[in-house]
Amino acid sequence: MSIELDLSRKPAATAPPNLAGRGREGLRLAMISAGVEEKKARMRANQLWRWIYHYGVTDFAKMTDVAKELRAVLGETFVLQRPEVAAAQTSVDGTRKWLIGYGPNTEAECVYIPDVGKAGALCVSSQVGCTLTCTFCHTGTQKLVRNLSAAEIVNQVMVARDTLGEWPTSNEDRLLTNIVFMGMGEPLYNLDNVVEAIATITDGEGISISRRRITVSTAGVAPKIPELGARTGAGLAISLHATNDDLRNELVPINRKYNLKELFDAIRQYPDLSNSKRVTFEYVMLKGVNDTLAEAKDLVRLLKGVPSKINLIPFNPWPGTKYECSDWETIEAFAEVLNRAGYASPIRTPRGRDILAACGQLRSESVKQKASERLAERLAAKEAAAEG
Ligand code: SAH
Repeated sequence: MSIELDLSRKPAATAPPNLAGRGREGLRLAMISAGVEEKKARMRANQLWRWIYHYGVTDFAKMTDVAKELRAVLGETFVLQRPEVAAAQTSVDGTRKWLIGYGPNTEAECVYIPDVGKAGALCVSSQVGCTLTCTFCHTGTQKLVRNLSAAEIVNQVMVARDTLGEWPTSNEDRLLTNIVFMGMGEPLYNLDNVVEAIATITDGEGISISRRRITVSTAGVAPKIPELGARTGAGLAISLHATNDDLRNELVPINRKYNLKELFDAIRQYPDLSNSKRVTFEYVMLKGVNDTLAEAKDLVRLLKGVPSKINLIPFNPWPGTKYECSDWETIEAFAEVLNRAGYASPIRTPRGRDILAACGQLRSESVKQKASERLAERLAAKEAAAEG
């Protein structure tokens, strides 16, 4: 096998950089690279910001307050593109799921759930795949492919707002009011990008979703928990699922690294916790595994002194799982113990189960390729091109 390189051929044109999803600083730098004077770059970036994040435009020509010549330069240099929507599904209950393609072998899902939060919540992914291997979670069966960039996370919100027709909307009559980082991946293993994405999503001159309506869920990366609060002001959710270390080690293996004591020490350091800003504890109901009344009482004891809400999540089955959802009476009896301890309506109604959009059911087919596989693929493509 020999490969000849044709040096007379120009390298394949690379796609122009995408500005949609970028933060303010990213936009400012883009303006400078397009030739805008440095002292005007911030002002230009601010103009673009409004068009991109308030009006949702995907065409520079529509930016009527930007000089025509600059619009032309921007149009030649950059794009304002959404990622590809590889599949879109709607559940009988109105839940919508998008499979978003960020490039070859890099797909992540995000889910819009109406009538949750103030009006509706978008559940976003922070990684393609996951490193955590929680035994009851479908995403946990998919190896980590990579972290999503801040722009890629923001673009999930942009895609949802496109479909919901929310460019622009007043804050009063929106369909998308809340964001939960409860899709694929562990947000605290991608904290810098999550922080930047939240800054963009909450910016008052753009998408303008309040930080109070953003919740980041973690399986328990203890050392990053206080930092998350300090850098984002978002709400904290903890995927607890067990009340003792032995069981939690099995269900949520990151517990072997940061046990319940370390986890709760970190949670207590989360800034500004109060009755109006509580930690959400997620507890998946697994038949015969973690659903006894004794565990309900342990849960109450464990949360003592932490301003908390509890979400009991009926286990959502997925192909190949060994777990079953607890019986409804068991869930109700468990909830009753929590109710008596002062936790109101703790059972979360499953949404979007028919399209595998419910908690823990998200997964994409993307797999990480080894460098050697990528190289082999590239060489094969070159050969095919040379032959063809
Ligand atoms: N890695 C983060 C973000 C994912 S959030 C975290 O673990 O918090 C997804 C939530 O759904 C988590 O609480 C997770 O434990 C829960 N979950 C996972 N699989 C589930 C399933 N099959 N049924 C119900 N909930 C599930």
